[in-house]
Order: sequence, then C-alpha cells, then structure tokens
Amino acid sequence: MISLLNITILTFKKMEPKLTKALYISSKKEQNEENFGHLSDQCICCGKPMKEGDKLYIHLNTIGEAINPDYVNEINCKELTGAESQGCFPIGNECAKKMLGFTFILK
Ligand SMILES: [Zn+2]
Repeated sequence: MISLLNITILTFKKMEPKLTKALYISSKKEQNEENFGHLSDQCICCGKPMKEGDKLYIHLNTIGEAINPDYVNEINCKELTGAESQGCFPIGNECAKKMLGFTFILK
C-alpha cells in the first residue's frame, strides 16, 4: 500500500525536474587543450578529441550550465534557466557519466 504522503512526494518530484546542472570540468582540460589544441570535435569537459563512436552531446546555456534536454530547448531556455541557449557541444562517453540525464544523442 502506498501512503498519501508518498504520492505527494512523487508528484512533487515529477513537477520539479532538475533543469540545470553545473558542467563537470576535468582537471586535465587545460592540459589536454594544450596538447590537442582547439578542435571542432572535442569533449567540452576534458578537451580530449572525440573518439570514433562517441556521439553524445550536451546543451549549455550562456552562463555555462548544462540544461536538461527533456525539458529545456532553445526556445524556452531563457525562460526556464535564466540564460539563453549557447547550443550543443560534444561530450565524451567517460565525462558523460558525470552528467547523467543531461546528455543526449544528436539526431
Ligand atoms: Zn571528456
């Protein structure tokens, strides 16, 4: 049996999705950018070139927060997160593990 309190909590959670999350930045990012330079296809978190088969992306707003792709898009970004969309950036599979729920496959 589920108590009424549990239902209330579940409903509340459903209505209050986490819309933004601080972007994980690897301590190796600076070093990697120095080693590899600035590429068009490198992980936003650690600066490593994307590997064959890496196909995840993350959507950032202009203050550098990751935004929840299930709820926020380029049109409602300002309204929901307080800052405009900055677009989508590639993220490596390893770093993506630190940003669960905030990455997606670009179709
Ligand atoms: Zn990375």
